[in-house]
Amino acid sequence: MPAYARVDLAFERGEGSWLVSTTGERYLDFASGVAVNALGHAHPHVVEAITEQARRVIHVSNLYRVPEGERLADRLCKASFADVVFFANSGAEAMEGVIKVVRKYQSANGHPERWRIVTFEGSFHGRTMATLAAAKNKKHLDGFGPVMDGFDQAPFGDIEATKKAIGKETAGILVEPVQGEGGVRSAPPAFFKALRQICDENGLLLAFDEVQTGIGRLGEMFGYQRLGVTPDVMGLAKGLGAGFPIGAVLATAEAGKGMTAGTHGSTFGGNPLAMAAGNAVLDVVLAPGFLDRVKHLERLFKQRLAEIKDRHPTVIAEVRGEGLLIGLRAAVPNGDLTDALRAEKLLGVGAGDNVVRLLPPLIVTEAEIADAVGRLDRACAAVERSLQGGRKQGAAG
Ligand SMILES: *Cc1c(COP(=O)(O)O)cnc(C)c1O
Repeated sequence: MPAYARVDLAFERGEGSWLVSTTGERYLDFASGVAVNALGHAHPHVVEAITEQARRVIHVSNLYRVPEGERLADRLCKASFADVVFFANSGAEAMEGVIKVVRKYQSANGHPERWRIVTFEGSFHGRTMATLAAAKNKKHLDGFGPVMDGFDQAPFGDIEATKKAIGKETAGILVEPVQGEGGVRSAPPAFFKALRQICDENGLLLAFDEVQTGIGRLGEMFGYQRLGVTPDVMGLAKGLGAGFPIGAVLATAEAGKGMTAGTHGSTFGGNPLAMAAGNAVLDVVLAPGFLDRVKHLERLFKQRLAEIKDRHPTVIAEVRGEGLLIGLRAAVPNGDLTDALRAEKLLGVGAGDNVVRLLPPLIVTEAEIADAVGRLDRACAAVERSLQGGRKQGAAG
């Protein structure tokens, strides 16, 4: 189905931060498969782990124990606030699980009347019916029939509006630490602290969508650690499998207490191959010094990007984001900037709010960041030339 507006470009292999096209050209990959390839391409440890597991057993189903999954769940719990984990296969599926945990908790707690969730304008939680209903993006919902009920929305960062959106039927609040697809939009830590307080005062669960921000993307293992606020439940996916499809719902024992045997399930979720990929990713990301390096790269990259913005104010309006989730708000249509970057063999990703995202793999080197900045500089100069050309043409006409 033509559901994607694809670029006419294909890749035959990758290595680290680089992709090689079928025509043999090398691209610096700061799209990372939309924040998925946290360890770049063909990371030897991930390749080894997946190959080794595939030789032994790929899938057994959830009829039996999966030791690799128990190990991954234990490690995720040790690294986070969580006590229990449910494995799924994608971000949307993880977020469906998060929504179900929030509703089930209230019902198990004697409040079946509490089933609504407060979400935020500009958010993105996936393309299933419930996650679309949660984000309320009109473009994504158009033509798909009645929108599932149960979500009330407030402007992102607006504490008073959030309080007003809460009623007798509210079960929880769902928020992204940084809105990724929405355009790399942040809110101050005070906003998230207020959400925590609102939840505590009203017996609500605080749910985080860390599908994009989790697994080191913001320079901490999880985005909530950067904000100094702990959720009760969160969804993970993208970076967790380094390219292998995987999703996870993490919860405290209290928040997850309604999810007893038979309440939820997934045929593929948590299969040994996916678990091997997840464990291999944690081996690398949780190693001492790895996340400190990401934070160092963030400072370096942001400094250099600020210089580029100052040099090209007619192309870049703003540099924003946290960790290696960077957004360039464009002063021209963001698609034009993405195209110009690709012409310089640098890959980025569009987002809402006229933003181009730069999402280097977390294993990117300082030299590659310097290389990317050079390409961005040349791409901005090319956009400027076309702007001037357009103006001259306009004057001539
Ligand atoms: C990508 C994303 C999703 C959806 O993940 P899929 O794997 O595409 O289903 C959900 N939430 C956030 C914040 C995302 O960035």
